[in-house]
Amino acid sequence: MVKEIENYVRVLLPQIGAGKTREIIRLVFEIAKRDKLTPEHILPAAENLNFISAKKLLLKKRYPKNYASAPTDVYYLPELNLDFCSPADYAKKEFYPKYIFVDAQAKDSPLAARVRHMFPAAEYKILDKKQKVGSADYSRRADTLYITRENFDFLKNCPCTAGAAGCGYNLINLGFGCAYECAYCFLQQYQNAHAVALPANLGDFLARVDGAHFNKGPFARPRLGSGEFTDSLLFDHITNYSSEIIEFFRGRPHIDFEFKTKSVNVANILAAEPCGNIVVGWSVNTPRVIAGAEYLTPPLDERLRAAARVAARGFGVAFHFDPVIIYYGWRADYKETILKIAAAVPADAVRWISVGTLRFNRELKKIIEARHRNTEILNEELLVGFDGKLRYSDAQRKEVYSYIFPMLKKYFPKAHVYICMEK
Ligand code: SF4
Repeated sequence: MVKEIENYVRVLLPQIGAGKTREIIRLVFEIAKRDKLTPEHILPAAENLNFISAKKLLLKKRYPKNYASAPTDVYYLPELNLDFCSPADYAKKEFYPKYIFVDAQAKDSPLAARVRHMFPAAEYKILDKKQKVGSADYSRRADTLYITRENFDFLKNCPCTAGAAGCGYNLINLGFGCAYECAYCFLQQYQNAHAVALPANLGDFLARVDGAHFNKGPFARPRLGSGEFTDSLLFDHITNYSSEIIEFFRGRPHIDFEFKTKSVNVANILAAEPCGNIVVGWSVNTPRVIAGAEYLTPPLDERLRAAARVAARGFGVAFHFDPVIIYYGWRADYKETILKIAAAVPADAVRWISVGTLRFNRELKKIIEARHRNTEILNEELLVGFDGKLRYSDAQRKEVYSYIFPMLKKYFPKAHVYICMEK
């Protein structure tokens, strides 16, 4: 399709420069992908167009909801290059690394011993000094498991986004790299060592908790969570972090600890004695978004079954509608998802629910296009927003929150419902 569009635009508008040609090609491509139309339908030759009239016509078609009110500098139209990076690998397989690298400082750790035992067929190597390991290809990151000893980056306040009202979250960076393939994942752009890195010195992280300054935002007590640079529980059968964390925070009831996950890897949680300040937070979405953007992750029903078991065991649960994605039929689908959660999990067990609409650094757009050719998440109108990220317009985001919030408050009256990364 791309070649056909390029040829058509170059023949139709032969006199315009390379930069302008690239913008026209991109707009035609995005409309063709969304509306399943040919270039001739989108940009008819009979219209006698020049660059300005062609771009205006295309912007109106590409951004029909926002064109009349949006300023001219909110459209992000980078060069179209579907070979920008290799496509994602959606083949479902159990995590089994081909290579295991271990920092020399971590070589005698229980985690190093455990991974050696769990993955006997992997090539195993001790590294004398910290070094960059992993594949040159992001899609091959699950081939490499890197057991590290973290010396610096233990705890931090959630950086949120520029100009947003934060929720007072705090982060503990237990791991870097994920085996799921969410189309919107910022790690695709952010991670430069393409491996799954897991620290062997959890005790050093926990040793920083007492005496640390934690934000609490509008919550009664600080919340601390893992899962910024990886899924909190996806590798828990390997790390056993959750068992140690639960025991640690059992003695610190003034802090809520949250495991944020899309996984159903809750065996360690279920095996532990319940603890009131431990919360497992599931990222949830509509079945259509899960199937078409959260590749390799468990379906909604499985996530909810895991949440029900965790709640029944006596732990807190949380849900994160993040990212909410707008598509034709989103309202009915999100309503159904909320009703499913309400039917699966007792409302009193739900401690908090966050809602955030799709947003990402603009540079990620080209990566998403190249890695996830069939995803629909870029079809809606994404504009450069207040923090420089691509987002839905203010009006569309308000529409989402106005629709979802009252339902969440109705079905989960005791849960703290809040918005994530908004001004
Ligand atoms: S689960 Fe989270 S970390 Fe993993 S791919 Fe999806 S968005 Fe990224």
